[in-house]
Amino acid sequence: MKTMQETAEIEIRNPADGRMVGRVRDHAVEEVAEAVRGLRAAQPAWAALGARGRAEWLLRLQDWLVDHTARLTDVVQSETGKTRFDAAIEVPCAIDLAKYWAGHAARFLADERPAPHSPIGRTKRLVTTFRPYPVVGIITPWNLPLMNPCFDAFAALMAGAAVLLKPSEVTPLSAVELARGWAEIGAPPVFAVLTGAGATGRAVVDAVDYVQFTGSTGTGRAIATACGQSLTPYSLELGGKDPAIVLADADVDRAAAGIVYGGLFNAGQVCISVERVYVEAPVYDRFVAALTAQVEALRLGGDDRGFRYDIGAMATAAQRDIVRRHVEEAVAAGARILTGGKAIGSGLFFEPTVLVDVDHSMACMTEETFGPILPVVRVADEDEAVRLANDSVYGLSATVWTGDRARGERIARRLEVGAVNINDAFANLVNFALPMGGWKDSGIGARWGGAAGIRKYCRQQAITVPRQELRREPLWYPASRWRSALVTGLMRAVDARGVRKLPERLRRNRS
Ligand code: NAD
Repeated sequence: MKTMQETAEIEIRNPADGRMVGRVRDHAVEEVAEAVRGLRAAQPAWAALGARGRAEWLLRLQDWLVDHTARLTDVVQSETGKTRFDAAIEVPCAIDLAKYWAGHAARFLADERPAPHSPIGRTKRLVTTFRPYPVVGIITPWNLPLMNPCFDAFAALMAGAAVLLKPSEVTPLSAVELARGWAEIGAPPVFAVLTGAGATGRAVVDAVDYVQFTGSTGTGRAIATACGQSLTPYSLELGGKDPAIVLADADVDRAAAGIVYGGLFNAGQVCISVERVYVEAPVYDRFVAALTAQVEALRLGGDDRGFRYDIGAMATAAQRDIVRRHVEEAVAAGARILTGGKAIGSGLFFEPTVLVDVDHSMACMTEETFGPILPVVRVADEDEAVRLANDSVYGLSATVWTGDRARGERIARRLEVGAVNINDAFANLVNFALPMGGWKDSGIGARWGGAAGIRKYCRQQAITVPRQELRREPLWYPASRWRSALVTGLMRAVDARGVRKLPERLRRNRS
């Protein structure tokens, strides 16, 4: 849908109807370097404002987001082709995040004064400070074009870093709006958005002091390699193949409704979408019937402000083709479609689909689909469900559906994933006190998670301050037998166990 122009521009089209909805610059490598120079120059004054001063600016941006909610939602919809219902949640989530970081940054960034680990250390006062990386590069995918940038930019800005955001070339317009908001409120020039494709992203990785990446596992690996060469710290939020486990004691209708939403919100284009479902045998038939009926009732289509449709367009033709391949290959290998199964219409729509008789030899059960399909597997018991759920290179998140919450929590602790939601989907995505990060091929590091979510954008600095000062410290030169014996003997007396606290000479005499 997007074409590169000779003028180094990228055209943005609404995938629901093919309409051109905007153009952005395809920024060159030199422009990235120049932007980083500007951000680097502005960042010290931003850091010097302190967390409370910076929070004032974030709250002004929050006001701007509130005041422009409808227009921003229009932009999100225009570049993604998603339904109004799905698009409408992006701005409120950004507003919620702004409140969280503005309200907590000062406490999370306050110096720590840890107690020395040993009595010998009590000669010093210890301080840990959290000082921002000067410039954080944030690279985002196309699925949640306003939310994804806010997920990471707000925490990095509140940490005191300057932020260079490179949004997806598929859906850059919402990020451009965010930059407009930052400029309109008159905030310091510490937030820049540079549009472009992979080459621009690579230039960002090369120029910044910390990389926060959200996107596919393949691109994540390339970024990790580049960061490994330059020793740039990074955090990667990557793809997933999230399992849902439905136990025989679950409320089957509620589980089906939750899995329909968790699997098909945003046409299934969410990293933590439910992508495979394991159902205990006693409720399998009932669950599949409920799921199929609910998916059949969904309304597929493109709308503007109508709230008339449940499932919107897929963002790109390439993504729709992956979904089609997963369905077609599964069917060729013996799977059955209970509803949906086809790409339809002139836009990039794919019918919400329920697949059964699937297994782990099929791509729809092993590769990330990122589309509106729900493959369902019958399992004998909880152990088989856990085994199959863990049989994946991915480990982003999972859901467990059960009438026994304690059992759900026990199962959660057996799953090899970064988050488990019991009897709900996406709950961890809206709880910023929890870390959101993937295990295995789903990522490295995490976003949010209380203080850790802002301290990740800081370098920790250790400071020791003497409580009292001797004229010379015992280990300073010149070398001396007795001072060495004093220090090492003291350390042994403090650290060793039982009789070993004594000098070797005394221990020999005792034996
Ligand atoms: P992608 O990896 O193709 O692109 C993501 C971003 O990286 C884009 O901005 C792109 O221009 C840029 N990019 C591409 N090559 C680059 C390179 N070599 N160096 C630097 N930047 C480069 O991903 P996508 O198709 O836009 O997004 C879909 C993927 O994102 C899915 O795999 C999905 O699971 C994942 N995702 C993960 C999360 C999460 O939090 N874990 C959230 C949303 C999406």
